[in-house]
Amino acid sequence: MNETFLHRLETVERRIVAACKKAERPRDSVRLLAVSKTKPPEAIREAAACGVRLFGENRVQEAQSKIPMCPNGLEWHLIGHLQTNKAKIAARYFQMIHSVDSLKLLQALDGHAGTTLPVLLQVNVSGESAKFGMNPDEVAGVIDAANQMQKCEVHGLMTIPPFSPDPEKTRVHFSALRQLRDRLQDETGTPLPELSMGMSHDLEVAIREGSTWVRIGADLFGAR
Ligand SMILES: *Cc1c(COP(=O)(O)O)cnc(C)c1O
Repeated sequence: MNETFLHRLETVERRIVAACKKAERPRDSVRLLAVSKTKPPEAIREAAACGVRLFGENRVQEAQSKIPMCPNGLEWHLIGHLQTNKAKIAARYFQMIHSVDSLKLLQALDGHAGTTLPVLLQVNVSGESAKFGMNPDEVAGVIDAANQMQKCEVHGLMTIPPFSPDPEKTRVHFSALRQLRDRLQDETGTPLPELSMGMSHDLEVAIREGSTWVRIGADLFGAR
């Protein structure tokens, strides 16, 4: 089983290397977040034994019970919707939150974080009604508010595009997130280096469009 994970990791790594080359970007400009949601601590231990250090979880309660059973020295990122009343627990267990989708949530995280907490603002660039995420026109105000906060630091943007079996169809949403980031950097004067976008089936397109964090679950850990 360890060998299976290692094989999958090597395949994903080859895809990232190839996509970086095609985009004329250095390999170290993209980080691989191993999305371990629904997978048991043993699977995370195997991944850690293969050198993976960065893990993504989408539910606070699952992370809260799982993280203490995992090796020390791993970094945990929250990638799923967070309710304000769970901000305190999230701030304790996660080193970075990719899915901040309201000012209210950001304020709650800022109040509970013990040290500097890097966050990404999740934006609904496609306008799909079922998706979490801020409207693009809300984001500048949230960045301005974050600049007055003690603990939370906005490092960039995140999006989850509508699923399409053809990754090329997703490109427009990744491109929209990058353009929004460029515009917000100019408007607010805040550096926003990070773009969290791209999953198992569309990481190549995301890297071409400027992703700095690809969030990979199924292609590393197997189907859920
Ligand atoms: C599950 C999940 C992923 C990983 O998706 P895969 O298709 O399994 O690679 C990435 N991002 C978020 C927000 C997720 O919930």
